[in-house]
Amino acid sequence: MPARAKIKLVVLDLDRVLWDYHDASSIEPPLSRIGDRIVADSRGVKITLRKGVREFLSRTKSSGIFLSTCSWNDRDKALMLLRAFYLDKYFDYIMIEPHPEKQEMMRRILDHFRDKGVEECDVLFVDDREDMLEKVKAEFPCIKCLRFHPRGDVFDFSELIGRVNK
Ligand SMILES: [Mg+2]
Repeated sequence: MPARAKIKLVVLDLDRVLWDYHDASSIEPPLSRIGDRIVADSRGVKITLRKGVREFLSRTKSSGIFLSTCSWNDRDKALMLLRAFYLDKYFDYIMIEPHPEKQEMMRRILDHFRDKGVEECDVLFVDDREDMLEKVKAEFPCIKCLRFHPRGDVFDFSELIGRVNK
């Protein structure tokens, strides 16, 4: 097997990846925690964190791998959700912008991590949407992309741990 470059940065989409909900921008605050992995908004809409997310983030971070988000959302609302799940502390960088041009967000993420020794080929990007992965791949062909989806490359955070921490 060819040697694989070690991953130094994992970039994660939020909606339908970290949690099951499709659009953090549509939540109506205030939020209330109704379980370890469940948050409800003021209308009673429930958002559930995927199983194994906290362990994934914690183990990845302790392996010395950087973590960033890359999310098309209203920043305040998505951040509110990250905080409600106590996840914001794991991320070295939080990229959330209100447009679907993830290749632009990725460029800024790479700019941010460049002086920490991270290059394009050291990055793993995880998103549920094929079109988002394609946009990033077209601009940054060396970034490793995984589709987090029942019919994608991976749909389980305990499996993703194995893909990252080799
Ligand atoms: Mg998504």
